[in-house]
Amino acid sequence: MFAGENNLLVILSSPSGVGKTTITKKIQQKYSAFKISVSHTTRKMRSNEVDGIDYHFVNTNEFEKLIKEKKFYEHARIFGNYYGTLKKNIDKDVEKNDILFDIDWQGTKQLSKHKNLNLIKIFLIASDKNELKARLIKRNQNTKREVDLRFDSFDEDVKYWRDYDYIVINKNLDNCFNQIMKIIKDNKKTNIFRSI
Ligand code: 5GP
Repeated sequence: MFAGENNLLVILSSPSGVGKTTITKKIQQKYSAFKISVSHTTRKMRSNEVDGIDYHFVNTNEFEKLIKEKKFYEHARIFGNYYGTLKKNIDKDVEKNDILFDIDWQGTKQLSKHKNLNLIKIFLIASDKNELKARLIKRNQNTKREVDLRFDSFDEDVKYWRDYDYIVINKNLDNCFNQIMKIIKDNKKTNIFRSI
């Protein structure tokens, strides 16, 4: 068991474009006790991203070496690229912090198998599919093909909502943020009482 066994590991999953990254950053700004898990990926870095902050950007050989060495808690292939969470980073951070994961349903399934992890699983969905497409295009960080790939994955992604503890609809960013914070606070309380 971890030294920081009262600390929470919060997973936030959603189809692409629902606003998860914005919400993740907002949570961290407001509650500095939260660390955001920085994943490894083989995807190309976007112009607004920083290596080591948004992701650890690595090449396919490096990623596959880490898989072989069993260094990941979870990893998945998404939109043609690898994404994964290193065990080393989480085991160290959870001793002192709550951790927020921005990972997909495949990673959530794999993390759930580690019974020693104190997970809260939240699935974020858009209230309107057309709005989602507009947001993906407006974000202007993907080629048309990538926008289509991400949009088309919506129907597949939402099939996995049953694997989550909570479903939150992002119709209004502030409401959505407040709902997620309430979930976190309620679980934090329960968790502290559980250990007494
Ligand atoms: P993006 O390329 O837009 O940054 O992320 C694409 C998808 O990969 C998002 O749904 C995001 O949640 C997911 N993702 C990011 N990091 C990880 C990870 O470490 N593991 C898994 N399984 N999914 C991840």
